[in-house]
Amino acid sequence: MGDVELIGHELIESCLECGALTAGEVTETIDGDRLAWAVSTRCSGCGRAAEVDGWGEMPGIVREALIARVGLVRLQADPAASGRLRVRLLAAFRKGGATISEAAGAYTALTGLGITGTPSEMKLLADRLTAAGATVLLTPR
Ligand SMILES: [Zn+2]
Repeated sequence: MGDVELIGHELIESCLECGALTAGEVTETIDGDRLAWAVSTRCSGCGRAAEVDGWGEMPGIVREALIARVGLVRLQADPAASGRLRVRLLAAFRKGGATISEAAGAYTALTGLGITGTPSEMKLLADRLTAAGATVLLTPR
């Protein structure tokens, strides 16, 4: 992506065809056990439609635009019930790409104030933790 500016929840850039300003909207979904995201743009000048797709972590400004539109959610688990599952939950975080120390930090957050992220990020994590035996709670932040 070229020269992009975030205004509200839209990614504003110049149309490659006519130079008019276009507004892109970000969506994020879960595909299997991966995050998929897309920026859909339609030019108000010439009507040119474009879509940029990606897997996993999205560029910073794209994530900011998504959060501006859909907000953040909080994922929590009961500390007492999670204690006996600690090793399995750490493994679930590791499976999601966390280092050992990141997994330990994530476990502490999960059983404390909660982990925040986009709805799809937290749904994917909730599914992994639930598969590991945890009972988790998702709430709007
Ligand atoms: Zn155009």
